[in-house]
Amino acid sequence: MVQAKLAAYSDEKQVTTVALGDRASFGGQDIVIIGGPCAVESLAQMEAVAEGLQDAPVQGLRGGVYKPRTSPYSFQGLGEEGLEIFAQIRRRYGLPVVTEVMAISQIDAIAPHADMLQVGSRNMQNFDLLKALGEVDKPVLLKRGLAATIEEFIGAAEYILSHGNPNVVLCERGIRSFDSYTRNVLDLGAVVALKQITHLPVIVDPSHAAGKRELIAPLAKGAIACGADGLIIECHPQPEESVSDARQALSLPDMVALVQSLRPVAAAVGRNIIEVNPPQTLAA
Ligand code: PEP
Ligand code: MN
Repeated sequence: MVQAKLAAYSDEKQVTTVALGDRASFGGQDIVIIGGPCAVESLAQMEAVAEGLQDAPVQGLRGGVYKPRTSPYSFQGLGEEGLEIFAQIRRRYGLPVVTEVMAISQIDAIAPHADMLQVGSRNMQNFDLLKALGEVDKPVLLKRGLAATIEEFIGAAEYILSHGNPNVVLCERGIRSFDSYTRNVLDLGAVVALKQITHLPVIVDPSHAAGKRELIAPLAKGAIACGADGLIIECHPQPEESVSDARQALSLPDMVALVQSLRPVAAAVGRNIIEVNPPQTLAA
């Protein structure tokens, strides 16, 4: 039996909704879609992304500024320069921003420029980081560990909740298996289970699960059909030129087409794909 306490689902009326800026809420009837590159590379890149995705529409932008890379010799992210880029993009386009926090020491610098703080798979059981994020007044996107059980995933969410932050969104992003054709195995069973066991919103990252761009749209549809409350998907103005995760990056037109293609699937399960975002109201 899974030990969920604060995260445990008890009654239909107590399902948690988590706001993403002033654009949207995870956990309601609307499906929340976040798009953007694996890593923030330049201001021009993020301008192209914000412009290309405005009419998709997406409700939030993603992009790593501090990147957890397998090799210390790979691009580690733009750091503070990337935060400055996000600050400008957020001001100009009014789109909420989601970005990864890798360490407690980064929280104070990132939080003012982000609408949601992401905990990456590699940090899902960094308990000190989870405790620290429990004390922050920003929603947290908690990604499932590379090989974490559902119980471990819920335990990680409990750390954040029990330290005072009720705004946690779970993200299934695929788990390790023996087969490297897909980068990971997208565990849609976990999405269904997490929605039954917890009252937290659950979203899916088909990009890191699939590892290949041609697999992403069908997996996104499957995720919505299984009850996911949103999606986070990697896309890039020049996918082949992405500094990281190029093979799984969608072009911006493909991302727009993907969002449109979700509409009938969402409708079939009583959910809604937002047609037009409300006017920009984020503080200038
Ligand atoms: C990411 O979303 O940028 C990322 C690194 O994903 P994950 O932590 O799921 O590997
Ligand atoms: Mn990536």
